[in-house]
Amino acid sequence: MTCSAGVQRACPADLPGGGAAPAQLGGPGPARPADDLYAPGEEYVFGLARPGRGAAVVSTARLHNHFYGRIPCEDDLVDRIAKEGAHELGHLLGLDHCDETSAVMYAPRSLDELDRKRKMLCTACAARLVAG
Ligand SMILES: [Zn+2]
Ligand SMILES: [Zn+2]
Repeated sequence: MTCSAGVQRACPADLPGGGAAPAQLGGPGPARPADDLYAPGEEYVFGLARPGRGAAVVSTARLHNHFYGRIPCEDDLVDRIAKEGAHELGHLLGLDHCDETSAVMYAPRSLDELDRKRKMLCTACAARLVAG
């Protein structure tokens, strides 16, 4: 599997319905999973959701071990995509970020923080989801 990062794109402008992307924020067209993404105020993001538009994207660019000079591992990649996908789905369902570092709605600031998360909601987020 190859996954060169290529051009870094701005998430908000590239998500469906996000409007035209300012030229300095990246090229035109929708974000693709292998695009390296960033958002205003962030050097990079693993993914982004726009609940109001029902749209979300997960970038695989920084989820690969080789991006960090580590030994490639397909299981690690699939695990991270599942966590980030669940995280963005949580946003689409109305959940915000969570301070519980082991919970799926925690916003990791590094690959190691992402790897320490589990694919589960914390008790408080699960209750918020059930309560609507
Ligand atoms: Zn998030
Ligand atoms: Zn939580």
